[in-house]
Amino acid sequence: MTLHDHLKRFPRARMGHLPTPLEPMPNLGKSVGIDLWVKRDDCTGVGLGGNKVRQLEFYLGKAQAEGATQVLITGAIQSNFVRTAAAMAARLGMGCHIQLEDRVPGKNETYRENGNVLLDRLLGATLHSYPEGEDEAGADAQLRVIAEDLRHAGEHPFIVPLSADQPPTGALGYVEAAIELLSQAEQFDEIFLASGSAITHCGLLFGLRALGDKTPVTGICVRRNADVQTDRVTRRIQDLAELTGMENPVTPKDICLDDSAFEPGYGQLSDPLVSALQLTARTEGLILDPVYTGKVMAGLLAQKDRLAGKRILFWHTGGQPALFAYADLLDAKLT
Ligand SMILES: *Cc1c(COP(=O)(O)O)cnc(C)c1O
Repeated sequence: MTLHDHLKRFPRARMGHLPTPLEPMPNLGKSVGIDLWVKRDDCTGVGLGGNKVRQLEFYLGKAQAEGATQVLITGAIQSNFVRTAAAMAARLGMGCHIQLEDRVPGKNETYRENGNVLLDRLLGATLHSYPEGEDEAGADAQLRVIAEDLRHAGEHPFIVPLSADQPPTGALGYVEAAIELLSQAEQFDEIFLASGSAITHCGLLFGLRALGDKTPVTGICVRRNADVQTDRVTRRIQDLAELTGMENPVTPKDICLDDSAFEPGYGQLSDPLVSALQLTARTEGLILDPVYTGKVMAGLLAQKDRLAGKRILFWHTGGQPALFAYADLLDAKLT
């Protein structure tokens, strides 16, 4: 059975613009001495795109198969996941309930109302709030309370889970992305991507290794330090093996995390992040985001000596709407 056959067993709500382009970044690459490329998953098409489109195709395929009428999802206030879920639910004729968690301390009105929050409202989602930002199990439990209310009102709710005790269904989208990348025929010395919930990281790594491809994948930590994230990726990959019924093709040595760009914490700007955003915009006309991809580029550029002359793939996972939520903070730091 091929990897593709394994994926075909899962329902999928196809709507992403796939495959996404794979492009060179000649100007930035030349200025830092790296043969740098970008995988444009910011261009997945639905609701301003990003990596969550690939993940949600599998969650919402499952929702559709179950006859769901309402999608429930939780995330940070500026979550791209919840915004994308609202867009994809709208396309499927489902309602969407979004629970926003207070995960980033000390943020202003712009953060709370612009960017993804504005889009959530535009997309017609019902917004709820959750006071804690570091309580995944509690946030999921609160979603189940909302689901129960909806069920009483005659709806059929479907929860897109966040916590790591649920099957990593969204990772199937990135297993598929591994097939897509290898079909695009470029070989890379190393791939860099953001490691947040770890769904993207574990799906891509699992997919590549299952296909016999040994390209190193470095996850840049954006949410937790490298020790904690290594455990999470390890566990989620095992969960993915169980979900697909496949043997786990990933060895502990394959799991590489780098938390050098993580400080001062999730969703917090740093000088290397702002320089990476600025440099990428001004050399390539390419817009990164302030929570994930900017930190990945900062982490990659910090290793430019080790990467000199190598062919490196930067995986763009989207997230640009959050730029507008950071407008004041960011504007003050631009040079
Ligand atoms: C969610 C997100 C990530 C992290 O992906 P995970 O699958 O949660 O690890 C990276 N980049 C962007 C823009 C995101 O929205």
